[in-house]
Amino acid sequence: MMAFLTAMQIVPALLLCLVGAPMLPVPAISHYEATLMGVLLAEALFFLFLTRSASSQYRIASFTQAVWLFTFAWLSIHLLGGVQFRLNLAIALATAALIGTQAHPVHSVYIILLTIGGAVAVVTNRLYGFLPHTPPSTVQNIPDYVFSIFFPVVSVMLFQAVLLGFKRGNAVTPKPAPAPEAPPVPVPGGANDRPTPKGSVIMSGDGDLVDTSQATQFFNRVYLENQGDQALKDMKDILNTVVYFMSRNFKAYTSLGFLVSELGDKLTLNAVVTKSRNLNYECTIEFGKGVIGSAVNKPAGFITGNLRSYTGELEYYSEQENINSMMIMRVMDNQSKRIQGLLLVDSENMRAFTDEHKELMYRFTQIASAMITSAKLTYQMNKVAIQADLQYEIAKKLSEALKVEEVIDVLTQSLMRTFEHDRLVIIAYNSATAKGAVWRIIGDPGTIAEGMEFDIHDNRSLYGSVFRNRRSVVSQGFRLEQRFVRFDRDEPAEVKPQDILIAPIHDDRQSVWAVIGLESNRAGVYSQTELQLLKTIMANVTTALTKARMYTEMEKLATIDGLTQIANHRKFQDIMTMELERSGRYNTPLTLLLMDIDHFKKFNDTYGHPVGDLVLQMVAKALQGSIRNTDYCARYGGEEFVVVLIQADEAQSRILAERIRKAVESVQIQNDDKILRVTVSIGSATYPFDAANKQELIDNSDKAMYSSKQNGRNRVSFFSEVKLMPSTAQSH
Ligand code: GH3
Ligand code: MG
Ligand code: MG
Repeated sequence: MMAFLTAMQIVPALLLCLVGAPMLPVPAISHYEATLMGVLLAEALFFLFLTRSASSQYRIASFTQAVWLFTFAWLSIHLLGGVQFRLNLAIALATAALIGTQAHPVHSVYIILLTIGGAVAVVTNRLYGFLPHTPPSTVQNIPDYVFSIFFPVVSVMLFQAVLLGFKRGNAVTPKPAPAPEAPPVPVPGGANDRPTPKGSVIMSGDGDLVDTSQATQFFNRVYLENQGDQALKDMKDILNTVVYFMSRNFKAYTSLGFLVSELGDKLTLNAVVTKSRNLNYECTIEFGKGVIGSAVNKPAGFITGNLRSYTGELEYYSEQENINSMMIMRVMDNQSKRIQGLLLVDSENMRAFTDEHKELMYRFTQIASAMITSAKLTYQMNKVAIQADLQYEIAKKLSEALKVEEVIDVLTQSLMRTFEHDRLVIIAYNSATAKGAVWRIIGDPGTIAEGMEFDIHDNRSLYGSVFRNRRSVVSQGFRLEQRFVRFDRDEPAEVKPQDILIAPIHDDRQSVWAVIGLESNRAGVYSQTELQLLKTIMANVTTALTKARMYTEMEKLATIDGLTQIANHRKFQDIMTMELERSGRYNTPLTLLLMDIDHFKKFNDTYGHPVGDLVLQMVAKALQGSIRNTDYCARYGGEEFVVVLIQADEAQSRILAERIRKAVESVQIQNDDKILRVTVSIGSATYPFDAANKQELIDNSDKAMYSSKQNGRNRVSFFSEVKLMPSTAQSH
């Protein structure tokens, strides 16, 4: 741009100098000098005129051009001989001061170079006449002459050099490009003591550089969210623009733009251009209240030339102002026919606004409406895209959840991210009491608490209805709902949430074992759209829960013994690995009891296998009943069982093993009219004293068990004692 501007002035100057100068009828001075001077002065004026441009770039560029052209012109005047040394100095300093106001240091360098160049060229020509048609030099005292012309030039240069140094010193906080001359439009919430705005617009993105890194993030969530926020900001900027043009067109004392609040029941002040010092920027106006609030219900707008006939003060002034005329018009959404905002102008004059003004105002509302609708659409579209993205993410996370608790965690987190809410509630079905029980509350609990129970069969209960009908529900304005209560009828009416969204939680077996509810204290938060979205998410939850149930069942099948319902051999091995590792880490003992039913082959032969199976089941139950909570029992195989005693040394395990032996001994099996009993032989070995690893521990407890068999069965043997009798142990 700078290069272009420079070319623009140098080309015509050169043309005039070469072509026009010889034709000038001024014999006393050089044609070149006279023409150059004239052109330069004219151009300086032209560029000074350009500084009125709205663009700050143009202003800076043209100002610079004007200044150095002016400098050239001044040098030329000097050469014509009529200017005194003191005047030279004054002009030079004024020039330097003007240049000094430039925004960029480069401008100063530019000026210095051009000043030197211009001065050298003109002086040289004057002294030596290298250009044709130059009159003979009249300079008598050459040093005086050179001093008189170069002293101001050097002054300009020094001044620029000082400025350059000053700017370099402040390089960390460079002076911003000059703002548009008008003060910014005040935003509500700003300090009231700010200078009175004369009317201005903050255009969104004016002067902002495009962030190229963002351009590649198309459909990235953060990008979309930023875009959504930007759309809302744009909407406010649009209103600012409209209000600015209103103030210009209507010669208004104050021009205002109101937007309907999020709740849809109030008007909030969003844009102002005023001559008043008493503007209340925090002003909000309720629908239907006062002169402005009632305009909400006036499709044709409101216009008065004598406001005195209306009672009440104008809410947007903090102090009384002498306002006589006013014009208000609604901004309507042309599609939904809902009100989006109000535009207002007032005036100190009586009857300031005519029907023609009203027509123009109507056009302003149309422009505002179209622009706001488009900003809102962008916002909505981004919201939909974000939701689609979220849904994909939720489905993916749900498909990764293996256990029921994981599914519920993913569900609660997803719902909290997707839906605006004040609280999230999960109600579980308590089969013991046949009631619904509040299981989890996330957010402000309000009047409910975890553990609270209620009758789901109460047909006025909204949460109960979801348990009964297995259908999602949405309720808008629940506070006014007469037919339903949230949980039960004792609930206080005034603390009910405004909007509720509830869905059943179930797997593909369709039995609802819990429901999840989202509650909002704001109205208009949940609608059919949110219900549909929730249903889609819940369909994925059902699939995930079915999968989780199957996974749990399979896990159970793989680790539980089918006959005795206690841990199987595989699970026993896992437990041993895990617990021995822990014992090793914390340096605590661990005892393994291995037991085998005595003469079981004979028992089977006498009473049959089915009775034998029953015995195995009852023995397993007896084991489970006689161990501590922290211990484990498992079926090792056939009629052999194991018990793992955590943190038990030999002394403790003596007591525990004896207790188990007695428990099995006292098991009674009813068979026909006979009562049958079995006994077990138990072997005990303790880690780390009797064995260094898992296999050794199993082997050694087996050896101890074998010793019990050898010594008459129905007894407990300890490896520490058995190993002292090598012959017995070896014979196994
Ligand atoms: P000992 O006192 O020496 O242990 O004599 P025993 O007869 O119990 O001898 P052993 O331990 O060798 O016999 C194991 C018997 O356990 C063989 C089998 O009939 C019986 N058995 C193993 N598994 C089952 C089962 O699942 N059900 C039934 N009913 N019997 C089983
Ligand atoms: Mg056996
Ligand atoms: Mg046996």
